[in-house]
Amino acid sequence: MHIVVCIKQVPDSAQIRVHPVNNTIMRQGVPAIVNPYDLFSLEEALRLKDRIGGTVTALCMGPPQAEDALRKCVSYGADDAVLVTDRAFAGADTLATSYALATAIRELSKQHVVDIVFTGKQTIDGDTAQVGPGIAKRLDFQLLTYVSRIVEIDFGARSIIVERRAEGGVQVLKTALPCVVTMLENTNELRFATLPTMIHAAGFPVRKWNREQAGIKDVAKIGLKGSPTVVKKVFGPTPRSERAEILELDTSSTRDVSLELIRKIFTRHPTLEAELLMKRAS
Ligand SMILES: Cc1cc2nc3c(=O)[nH]c(=O)nc-3n(C[C@H](O)[C@H](O)[C@H](O)COP(=O)(O)OP(=O)(O)OC[C@H]3O[C@@H](n4cnc5c(N)ncnc54)[C@H](O)[C@@H]3O)c2cc1C
Repeated sequence: MHIVVCIKQVPDSAQIRVHPVNNTIMRQGVPAIVNPYDLFSLEEALRLKDRIGGTVTALCMGPPQAEDALRKCVSYGADDAVLVTDRAFAGADTLATSYALATAIRELSKQHVVDIVFTGKQTIDGDTAQVGPGIAKRLDFQLLTYVSRIVEIDFGARSIIVERRAEGGVQVLKTALPCVVTMLENTNELRFATLPTMIHAAGFPVRKWNREQAGIKDVAKIGLKGSPTVVKKVFGPTPRSERAEILELDTSSTRDVSLELIRKIFTRHPTLEAELLMKRAS
């Protein structure tokens, strides 16, 4: 079995700021991390490998420094790591990104047929959740989104059963391999990297593929040229003038607390009481 796990290197969004004047994202000095959602899919892939054997390849499209993110995956147990990196990919939107990744997966498949592609649910920077479905569409693989558990894989029958989160419950789905799985967060706990695996990862020969090596012939489909989406404006949310308020009240009587809160709300929003009464009357 060959599992490809797509991982993206992202800036630690907890430390990102939007420039107050020109509204651009200030990335300077912000540490780069593996997209946290992707670590759940990496762990799930490693668990599958532990159960039924096979190879796990971590795949990333990004700048040369994204190699660090792939080394991290190797330290957790990925067998192979491929960084698709080329200036021609710069400015890619989700369409161009999923095209480049799908083409690279097709290329990987020529060496060792790919059975499952894992992606995270979404990234913490782009946040679109479009890349996984985009890859599935281009590769013509079955798509399983919001997966919380891989229930069973029958290699002989080339089938997979998963649980996926759906509105109001859990769906159990069965489909054919090959497939793309977008994995939900908090579905497993990432194993620890050990000192020997970290040393192994530090010296691991991460494969770097440029555009041609990734099998991409048509430059019009990648980077800025292949990206029909245009970001018109980036801005931080306006800080709210109203803040949460701590009321010091005598809590010995619940009734008094509720009355006091209602009194406060009506004082703050003088028209609210009349509006509610009118609504009730109509
Ligand atoms: C409108 C728009 C315009 C943009 N313009 C630019 C731009 O000009 N320059 C620029 O640098 N970026 C740009 N981006 C960001 C870029 O498109 C995204 O970083 C990229 O397409 C991935 O989308 P996402 O982060 O929303 O991933 P999602 O779709 O949320 O990611 C889902 C999963 O796909 C996988 N995945 C996503 N990206 C990668 C990757 N690179 N390698 C491996 N796996 C991956 C991961 O497993 C991830 O969990 C733009 C994004 C948008 C929405």
